[in-house]
Amino acid sequence: MFSKKYILLVSLALCWLITSATQFSKEVRNITWLDKADYNVPKILPEAIDSPKWVENSVNLVGNSSTNIDAPMIAIVIDDMGLNKKWSTKAENLPAPITLSYLPYAENLPERTKKARQSGHELMLHMPMEASGHHANYDSSTLMTSLTKTELLHNLQQNLDRFDGYVGINNHMGSKMSEDKESLSLIMQELKKRGLLYLDSRTTALSLGESTAREYGLPTTRRDVFLDHEATSEFVAESLQKLEMRAIKNGTAIAIGHPKDVTITALKQWIPEMQKKGFRIVPVSEIVKRRIYDDSHPIQVVSIKD
Ligand SMILES: [Zn+2]
Repeated sequence: MFSKKYILLVSLALCWLITSATQFSKEVRNITWLDKADYNVPKILPEAIDSPKWVENSVNLVGNSSTNIDAPMIAIVIDDMGLNKKWSTKAENLPAPITLSYLPYAENLPERTKKARQSGHELMLHMPMEASGHHANYDSSTLMTSLTKTELLHNLQQNLDRFDGYVGINNHMGSKMSEDKESLSLIMQELKKRGLLYLDSRTTALSLGESTAREYGLPTTRRDVFLDHEATSEFVAESLQKLEMRAIKNGTAIAIGHPKDVTITALKQWIPEMQKKGFRIVPVSEIVKRRIYDDSHPIQVVSIKD
């Protein structure tokens, strides 16, 4: 009925059809895959950033062969920076790396902070937050628990945009805000988006700052010692001693001080002395990195009474 030639031709046509269909299906699969990848790009990228702001803006420690990397590390954070011009300048002239945390309503912030960063200091933004009790010194950009979500976010973003080059924020005052989980969650989400770290100043023992930051996946830690709660040289000297003991006990310690005569004068003398004793002065980001590492690699620490 059908000639051999005819059967051969039909077979060849069928083969061509099958091959084309397979090829087409492959292309369709590829297109689908590409579309899916394209669609995923905005979702994947923020998670894949391997150099967030807190790392990108951190001070790189230049070690030399005599640097003992196992030495106890101390970070000195001077906050309330920028208002008291005389003592802020003296703080900027301390031997680097000090961590300097600037109030967003201080003047000439872009120039001032750029210069401080060039001198080898690490930068932070000192975020004004509501305290418990009556405080007359609230700036209009202070983060208050009474603000609506939109207002809170507006103030936060406005403050964060005042200058650049910082690794993260620590709270100025904030004893009330640090206990308000809902407001803190909003703050942490914005910081996470910007790749910043959160240092809890611990102005209240009930602070939820550090734990909320951790919940949102932020690099975070807390202040160990306040240097100048009382502005006397005796108080500062005792605090510095306490700081050394903390660093010996835990391997790391973070102090917060202020641009005050008593603090800067004491630090000028203490920094070279503590380095001779074998401590390392580091920017705050270095301690955050170390504590993240230690949390995932716990070791037995020798207990020393402080
Ligand atoms: Zn402050």
